[in-house]
Amino acid sequence: MLGTNTATHWAGRAPLPTTPTGARPSQPYLLPELGYDYGALEPHISGRIMELHHRRHHAGHVKSLNLALTQLDAARANRSFLRLAALERTLAFNLSGHVMHSLFWRNLSPQGGGMPGGALAAAIDRDLGSFGAFQRQFNATGASVTGSGWAALVWEPLGRRLLVIQIYDHQSNLVQGSVPLMVADAWEHAYYLQYHDRRADFFAALWRLWDWTDICARFEAAQRPRSISPEVED
Ligand code: MN
Repeated sequence: MLGTNTATHWAGRAPLPTTPTGARPSQPYLLPELGYDYGALEPHISGRIMELHHRRHHAGHVKSLNLALTQLDAARANRSFLRLAALERTLAFNLSGHVMHSLFWRNLSPQGGGMPGGALAAAIDRDLGSFGAFQRQFNATGASVTGSGWAALVWEPLGRRLLVIQIYDHQSNLVQGSVPLMVADAWEHAYYLQYHDRRADFFAALWRLWDWTDICARFEAAQRPRSISPEVED
């Protein structure tokens, strides 16, 4: 389901006013609205999980990344870079968490499930063997996350191929320059209230929710030159 609320667009930035000098002051990132109710993904994901995940976990990343940006502003102004490495790590963790969760919400739909068609289906067959082989690799990628992380289907623009990758936390083990198309949260907070230690069952349930309209649109956008944004125009 593509987003409809531009005021809280997932990219998370309010409209940028132009100052008299033409400079655009930076704006805080915003928590996006979901395109569906918290309970809309039941029975596959409980409303309570969705509410906590969005209102607490995702919101926490937005708050922390805005704070990190403020602290970086102060560090530059004060020429005080003693805490710079920690601040930049905090920024990478929380901004990546914001991007990943924003993408995850839009990859899912109450009307999701089934299989993709068109160019994405052909690329999956070419690069990953078959849709079934892709499903098995994606599930195994999620199941084998140690600690916290994600499974992701990405477009790798240098070799022009699809890859399945495992991401540690929100920001590590990435393939540089690759474009995330479809991401699955393997952190325990994503499933534990409902699935307990059965993460594989959670990953199996996600196949009833994937919004192939959204994922195919991201795939098509990723083919375009210089498009490294996971955003898809409505
Ligand atoms: Mn999460």
